[in-house]
Amino acid sequence: MAVAIQIRSVTKSYQRAGETLRVLDELDLDMAPATFYALMGPSGSGKTTLLNLLGGLDRADSGEVRFGDTDLQGLSGGELAAWRARNIGFVFQGFNLLPVLTARENVELPLLLQPLSASQRRDQAERALQLVGLGDRMAHKPRELSGGQEQRVAIARAIASDPAVILADEPTGDLDRTTADSVLSLLQRLNRELHKTILMVTHDPQAASYADQVIHLDKGKLGRIETNHPARS
Ligand code: ADP
Ligand code: MG
Repeated sequence: MAVAIQIRSVTKSYQRAGETLRVLDELDLDMAPATFYALMGPSGSGKTTLLNLLGGLDRADSGEVRFGDTDLQGLSGGELAAWRARNIGFVFQGFNLLPVLTARENVELPLLLQPLSASQRRDQAERALQLVGLGDRMAHKPRELSGGQEQRVAIARAIASDPAVILADEPTGDLDRTTADSVLSLLQRLNRELHKTILMVTHDPQAASYADQVIHLDKGKLGRIETNHPARS
């Protein structure tokens, strides 16, 4: 289900060595449903902080983060965790797979947070792995996979619960060019065919070129937003 995201006047600060560091400063951002966004900006500009607020991993000091009708600031800790499990898939630079689990078990892991039977979990995990082209690698452990395959397992894990939104923090940062391009094509396909909203942090202009829109963040403020592709119907 496609959902619009609205960020209104969001401020987030951290305390460090007795000083207040304002990481996001009265930020406003509108994200259209089913759109692929790249988020670029210098190191320390607040990209990961923004992703964490959108994914409900952290809370803003003030302002609003709305997903459709849901205002994240209004949810309790438990409500936020349940909301996150249903609505958000995370993908990280270092894949974050558990080495002792098979690909299928890794993908099943976040589904444990949902009211599903063991066979439903297994079906959903297998479907997600097939979707990312790893139907023949389900019983492999991470060390038996290439980096690109590991990241595709992580993407399968992110989409197994069929969330509307995928948040990816430098997902191709540890991959070579060819492997990165196949992971980026996969993300683009999830956007175009399954209508996922994707927000992907990247330093790489070529990676950003896969997105529909490129958002620039600098010192906690939004800069220009570039359009790569005309709107699709
Ligand atoms: P980016 O992802 O753009 O590199 P981050 O959002 O990770 O930037 O961090 C923005 C700034 O906030 C950095 O200066 C970072 O050191 C600081 N920061 C991030 N998380 C914390 C935290 N939990 N406690 C204190 N400072 C933090
Ligand atoms: Mg970061």
